[in-house]
Amino acid sequence: MSSSVIPSPPPVTLPVKGSDRTFPVRRVYCVGRNYAAHAVEMGHDPSREVPFFFQKNPDNLVAGGKPFPYPVMSQNVHHEVECYVALKNGGVDIGIDQALDCIYGYGVAVDFTRRDIQDEAKAKSRPWEMAKAFDHSAPVSAIAPAAEIGHPDHGAITLVRNDVRVQNGDLSQMIWKTPEIIAELSRYVRLAAGDIILTGTPAGVGPVERGDRIFCAIEGVGELAFEVI
Ligand code: MN
Repeated sequence: MSSSVIPSPPPVTLPVKGSDRTFPVRRVYCVGRNYAAHAVEMGHDPSREVPFFFQKNPDNLVAGGKPFPYPVMSQNVHHEVECYVALKNGGVDIGIDQALDCIYGYGVAVDFTRRDIQDEAKAKSRPWEMAKAFDHSAPVSAIAPAAEIGHPDHGAITLVRNDVRVQNGDLSQMIWKTPEIIAELSRYVRLAAGDIILTGTPAGVGPVERGDRIFCAIEGVGELAFEVI
């Protein structure tokens, strides 16, 4: 017997590669401008300023290669392929040298962005949520456990749109490395098991259209393929 006044929202879980067990999601954080070439293409200084963060909602994550429905309220939706980390524990003020111990595994994500809404938000100094945290805004691969793949700090990260490779970078080009991201983020918020962090996108972001076929890969981590409908 439940005491809830409404039905409980379904729990959000992600598949784990090579397992029938799942990873329950608590929060979703994202890092902005973490590859110099992408910072430059967006008109920003690529120097090593302190990283900044924003969030998506756990139920914005879509696993299993399901199609990405082109969202309402935008005419300019951009793809951003990113490596994500899934935490198995957390804390506050995590040291850089302790950060890797917090990681359960890694995966491939797309941080879909309503660029027109984001541009307006930037111009008017408004929040980014409606540009970033919309329904279905983060297709993700299954999680590859670090116990199996280690902690990748280099390897090609690519996004192919309709057989054209449009994003092409390397994890080694991240301005802030994964342990530094975890350490810095844990100065602002308590991190915990179930948290997901998207670690930024390399250069080559651009618009998608209905009918597009998207294929993403991160060397040593995994692949992600889906259609835009
Ligand atoms: Mn992004």
